[in-house]
Amino acid sequence: MAAEVQTNGVTNGLKQFASNGYHHTNGHSTNGHSTNGVSKHVEVGHSDFMDIRRYEDMIGNTAMVDITSLASPKVPGIKVLGKCEFLNPGFSMKDRIVRNIMNKAEELGHLKPGGTVVAASSGNTGAAVAMLAAMRGYKAVITTSPKCSQEKMDAIRAYGADLRVSPSGVPESHPDSYMNMAKRLSKENGWFDINQYDNLDNPEGHYLTLGPEIWNQTVGRVTHFVAGGSTGGTISGTGRYLKEKNPNIKCILADPYGSIFYDYWAEKKLVKPKKFLVEGVGKGSIPKCMDFNVVDDVIRVTDEESFKTCHQLAKKEGLMVGGSAGLNTFAAIQLANRLEEPAVIVTVLCDLGVKYLTKVYSEDWLTSNKLDSVINVDEADH
Ligand code: PMP
Repeated sequence: MAAEVQTNGVTNGLKQFASNGYHHTNGHSTNGHSTNGVSKHVEVGHSDFMDIRRYEDMIGNTAMVDITSLASPKVPGIKVLGKCEFLNPGFSMKDRIVRNIMNKAEELGHLKPGGTVVAASSGNTGAAVAMLAAMRGYKAVITTSPKCSQEKMDAIRAYGADLRVSPSGVPESHPDSYMNMAKRLSKENGWFDINQYDNLDNPEGHYLTLGPEIWNQTVGRVTHFVAGGSTGGTISGTGRYLKEKNPNIKCILADPYGSIFYDYWAEKKLVKPKKFLVEGVGKGSIPKCMDFNVVDDVIRVTDEESFKTCHQLAKKEGLMVGGSAGLNTFAAIQLANRLEEPAVIVTVLCDLGVKYLTKVYSEDWLTSNKLDSVINVDEADH
């Protein structure tokens, strides 16, 4: 009797897992393990009582938390919710898109056992590529810019990837930028380029997972989605899904001052990017994955506002997250404080603060960047 109940539990679990469309369908073994996490435990005959999967299968289905305490809404019934993307196996939402891109590439035969993948990244996609490449038996070459935190660089190397850092001070259009380095390496060596900026399997990764999770976790009550953009995959894929569910849902891009997105969205003008310190968001060019049709509004945020919000989240809610999560939360709070009717605002806590201990959470670094005001931020200060 007990065994029957447990068997049903596992069967249901598997059905649900497979119906998410998340699982890796290729199933070939590249490093001695089946990469098809769905079938492995069935094969060994313990499926009647164990539902233990591989680490890659833990991607997605992240928790959502209430962070309304940081806001001071004018009217009752306003909620600010954070999607804990730092709880993904590689500690950022980028695991979702890399899994989708790799699955597609394997299905189409662009990525073969023992092959090499190359990816340009501000650090999180690089970590996700390095992690999944390790699990699936590929070699990974990651290019990044010197802006990438030491922690993110070290993590990429820890997964066994070959990390190449572009020279400092080169704009994205320069042949030696980290983005062009990856393109060149792919061309010269025949390596599979993840190409997160222009590969539409990136927003699709969010359309298939992050969007439905937000819809389900809020029981369809989400009214606003707030996210920063770099490739645009998060806001475009998630935004498209949510708007298909309910066209009244508003998508707000949180953009750092210095990024060119705001001017492009507001006036179709391509301005020169300026320096800002928040990592992973904002851009100096317009990637193909960025779909401005889903963007209803843009809220611009300074480095100081982003980092202060990180410290508030840590001190008030115990959420120690990266700078872009602070930027997103600041924009979500601004929105919460100006709305005049009940709303459910969902934002993305993109990655883990541990990736920035030597930056966002370092007094020395903040002081040397004239951001002393962030250090002693009052938890109620916003
Ligand atoms: N936050 C962080 C920390 C990131 O690494 C990224 C991606 N570079 C983003 C936000 C932006 O996400 P997207 O590329 O999907 O626009």
